[in-house]
Amino acid sequence: MSETTETIFSKIIRREIPADIVYEDDLALAFKDIQPQAPVHILVIPKQPIRQLADADSQDRDLMGHLLLIVKNVAEKAGLSNGYRVVINSGSDGGQTVPHLHLHILGGRQMKWPPG
Ligand code: AMP
Repeated sequence: MSETTETIFSKIIRREIPADIVYEDDLALAFKDIQPQAPVHILVIPKQPIRQLADADSQDRDLMGHLLLIVKNVAEKAGLSNGYRVVINSGSDGGQTVPHLHLHILGGRQMKWPPG
């Protein structure tokens, strides 16, 4: 992962590169993943560039709750009434590739456990 907080997601927030945005408010953005791993694959990100979940602290408590409620609402709007999976990859061992906190919503197929 790059050390900078300036990522491709910052560019999506600023509309410098295109994305299929499905939700936006003052604090967060949700858009379709460019390489979907399921029929529905949406990313929810804070506009504030927190690098990874491991960097969040108590000041981010309300924002974290806000992001989870966005996940719920976006999943509902995407028609995932049969369920879905929410994934946060944090850091290198977690498999994170973009150093801007994001929540994956995956749905539209049966998920397996354990994940790879
Ligand atoms: P992670 O591996 O958890 O860091 O997830 C990063 C995700 O961002 C991957 O699922 C990528 O497919 C996705 N991604 C990377 N670039 C873009 C982009 N320009 N638009 C939408 N999704 C992207």
